[in-house]
Amino acid sequence: MLYPINEIFHSLQGEGFYSGVPAIFIRFQGCSVGCQWCDTKYTWKQLSNKMGLLKDILLKSKVSNIWSYLDCMTVLSTIVQKEWNANHIVITGGEPSMHDLRPLTIFLEKNGFYCQLETSGTYAINCSEKTWVTVSPKLDLKSDNKTLMKSLIRSDEIKYLVNSELDIEILDKLLLNINDDKKRIISLQPISCNSIATNICIKNCLARNWKLSIQIHRYLNIR
Ligand code: SF4
Repeated sequence: MLYPINEIFHSLQGEGFYSGVPAIFIRFQGCSVGCQWCDTKYTWKQLSNKMGLLKDILLKSKVSNIWSYLDCMTVLSTIVQKEWNANHIVITGGEPSMHDLRPLTIFLEKNGFYCQLETSGTYAINCSEKTWVTVSPKLDLKSDNKTLMKSLIRSDEIKYLVNSELDIEILDKLLLNINDDKKRIISLQPISCNSIATNICIKNCLARNWKLSIQIHRYLNIR
């Protein structure tokens, strides 16, 4: 199976439950969700005239909409050649759940890696059972996409963007609709590192024993 990939790189996971963990990021090209606060808009369109080779996505010095079709073996051989030490792989986007991720996640697991999927949950999630699934619910979309209940149920972590107290009320209603006993992580992430939103997140994390996700890569000025 071929996957449209925007970039593969090595850094620290900056968000959510695995914040601070060394990770290899596989960023997919293509997303139809249209989130208001998206910071990877260059991944939205999979333009045929921007399709390049593996070297074109590995040699990027800045973000761009250049992408390449890669198969599982090429992803693995790239990681091996780079001699990156991390065994945590973050599959992100774009919206990777637009694709069947079972071949990729199962293949990477067989080769000793642990996969984490970051997704809006607006598409059915097809990945290995062991994959850690982080769903960022999208509740204010102008498009017809909505976060699916079955995606929330599959999630190990719900990472929720917060701009105001109203967002917390909306999240509470969403969580009430999830009828299972799974002990999933709830991570609150202030939008754009905004100080008012950060204080709202801190207050609610302390009150509810939730996790604060502060996008440490932005504070550290790393990728
Ligand atoms: S799902 Fe992700 S890539 Fe797509 S618009 Fe939303 S934040 Fe951006």
